[in-house]
Amino acid sequence: MKIACVGAGPAGLYFAILMKLRDPRHEITVYERNPEGVTHGWGVVFWDDLVADLRANDPVTAQAILDRSFGWIDQVVDVKGSRPARGGGTGFGICRRTLLAILRERATDLGVEILFEHEIAEGAQLPDADVIVAADGVGSQVRRLRMDRFRTRIDLGRNKYVWLGTPRVFEAFTFGLVPTQAGWIWFHAYGYSKDMSTFIVECSPETWKGLGFDRRNSAQSLTLLENLFEDHLNGHRLLSHSDSQESLPWLNFRNMTNEKWHADNIALLGDAAHTTHFSIGSGTRLAIQDAIALAANLHGHEDVQTALAAYEQERQLAMLRPQREARLSAAWFENIPRYAHLAPPQLFALLLDRRSRLVSHIPPKLYYRLHWAKRIPPVRMLYRWAALGVEQLAGLHRRLSHS
Ligand SMILES: Cc1cc2nc3c(=O)[nH]c(=O)nc-3n(C[C@H](O)[C@H](O)[C@H](O)COP(=O)(O)OP(=O)(O)OC[C@H]3O[C@@H](n4cnc5c(N)ncnc54)[C@H](O)[C@@H]3O)c2cc1C
Repeated sequence: MKIACVGAGPAGLYFAILMKLRDPRHEITVYERNPEGVTHGWGVVFWDDLVADLRANDPVTAQAILDRSFGWIDQVVDVKGSRPARGGGTGFGICRRTLLAILRERATDLGVEILFEHEIAEGAQLPDADVIVAADGVGSQVRRLRMDRFRTRIDLGRNKYVWLGTPRVFEAFTFGLVPTQAGWIWFHAYGYSKDMSTFIVECSPETWKGLGFDRRNSAQSLTLLENLFEDHLNGHRLLSHSDSQESLPWLNFRNMTNEKWHADNIALLGDAAHTTHFSIGSGTRLAIQDAIALAANLHGHEDVQTALAAYEQERQLAMLRPQREARLSAAWFENIPRYAHLAPPQLFALLLDRRSRLVSHIPPKLYYRLHWAKRIPPVRMLYRWAALGVEQLAGLHRRLSHS
């Protein structure tokens, strides 16, 4: 089979690896617009479920990723001026650049051709192939070429966020919150190597404007953020890939879904097909799971159209839960003033339950009691029924407002 894959992110590269492992005779070319080794972002987190998927599909890649990962232990909520609350848990972090280097090396060893600095932006540039895989991320240009067929829907999140790095190594997954005269500002941080951490800063648009981020260049914004998070950073710097005279790359998260994931011989993969808010740390895992499903379906069916339809059906179903949880998690962070005044242990409990539809409907202090009470089986059962009921009403409301 002749396969063209647009985008050398985790989705495109892992898909190319799996196809070559299944049949080395496939001719696979990956087109990447960036030069080799250049990418956005810093480190990403993942958990045992991704490790299990990687091991089951390609133990070589799985081991290489684990060897270069950082194991973080514990989760911490650290509100300025209060004693931090701890909640347990473990996971992994890995530098995005390292992850991509591992996948590139494996793909190349298996015979995949990767063409860097090769952007596919127009229909005429679409390669001649049996299957074209659009793995070119959330802003996918390939998807835009068939916009009418995929029926893309993008909702912009309300909050502003910026993805930064820091040499302060956060051994625990840390949420740090700071009150300012313009409102709350907070970060999500975790170590991803022995000398670096990801540091994502988030706030409401009012706080963002109130603190003057709309007027400051990158260097000035980083200095202000270093001052605001001084207690959490222990004197370490914050780093951005942007030029110091430009503004920081603040964004509003793009919640994106597609009614169809395939059109003719084009299949959407990873962030080109769907996004899930970064606060659930799942985008890379879901992109890799798409790659696993697409490779399996292309090998499990005689013709490409049936394979792509089966892939779409399988993955759209699998995405329902993470997309719902991501929406709720993003909404929880958009509602932070409702929770931030709680004592850190209470705030932590509600943060852990942010993917539940009920958190936003029950007064926070009452919900905190419920958080503990649901350890009792009958309470847990009532809680689940109530959550399901509210979820169904919300689904109905969404469908009516979209129609
Ligand atoms: C702030 C933030 C934090 C995150 N943290 C986590 C986390 O902790 N854990 C996690 O699992 N996920 C996380 N994610 C999500 C994760 O980064 C993405 O879901 C994941 O990178 C998707 O992989 P992908 O291969 O589909 O797309 P991408 O990684 O975006 O790769 C797409 C590739 O296509 C290339 N490309 C784009 N357009 C073209 C074109 N026209 N022609 C050729 N090449 C092109 C790009 O240069 C890029 O290399 C986070 C996301 C954000 C925004």
